[in-house]
Amino acid sequence: MLHVVHHADYMAPRPDRGTFRFDKYHLVMEELRASGAAMTEHAPEPMPREWLEAVHCPDYVDAVFRAAVPRDKERRIGFPVTPAITSRVRHTNGGTWLAARLAMRHGYAANSAAGSHHALHDTGAGYCVFNDLAVAANRLIATGDARRILIVDLDVHQGDGTASLTAGREDIFTLSLHAEKNFPVRKARSSRDVGLPDGVDDDGYMAALTRHLPEVFADFAPDFVLYQAGVDPHHRDKLGRLALTDAGLELRDRFVVAEARRRGLAIASALGGGYGDDAREVAARHAASMLAMADENARAAWPT
Ligand SMILES: [Zn+2]
Repeated sequence: MLHVVHHADYMAPRPDRGTFRFDKYHLVMEELRASGAAMTEHAPEPMPREWLEAVHCPDYVDAVFRAAVPRDKERRIGFPVTPAITSRVRHTNGGTWLAARLAMRHGYAANSAAGSHHALHDTGAGYCVFNDLAVAANRLIATGDARRILIVDLDVHQGDGTASLTAGREDIFTLSLHAEKNFPVRKARSSRDVGLPDGVDDDGYMAALTRHLPEVFADFAPDFVLYQAGVDPHHRDKLGRLALTDAGLELRDRFVVAEARRRGLAIASALGGGYGDDAREVAARHAASMLAMADENARAAWPT
């Protein structure tokens, strides 16, 4: 059974500027529903403003809420922040938090959007407005739902925003595996960064992941895991520089879920990046990722 969080507002109308494709969020759900897999859909509440302000600069939060983000920040984000985008990002942030709460009950749950790991304290960047990973992690710890959260970021781009927003926190650990030469040019410092050379294939990728992830689990001892499961390390991705196959992405996702679950930990995923001219092909990649993780979760005993 896949528990997936989705909301109609995830599909904002295509803005008049920028190259970001919003149609994949609709197609991801179509792919999931067409798969015939057992699935329950959950609708999130918008993230309350106070939890966004707990991580982001209140002036920036205010500008997003008024859809009055300065043009230079909109350029950095990659699209204009319209009222529809404001509602979208409040719901996608609420969605990652809800996926976390569902995961605590079911072992694994997915948000069908977000993973907005480039968003910084007082600005968005790289198609990200609010950083749902940092916002959800901070809220879960502040309310006592978790004490130590590991954020595993396997998007092909470094999780620079998450790293900088959680820097200095002993109760949040950020692990980022990414293509070293990819965006962002200036990297932040995650708790652990693994920068990969261009063209790394399934074997090279899994060699790095199977070395670093168990070490991090052992050293940090988290009690909850958030997973940015971007599919842009795929060899056909337009913005990736790595060479993973469909089978490689499945191995990756199953390994991450299995490593969490065999330690008795719940894990929630956010969608992350995935880019290409054929939005349905990209959506199918995301859907396959969530279904593989739900299947892996079903193999784990709960509670352990
Ligand atoms: Zn990415």
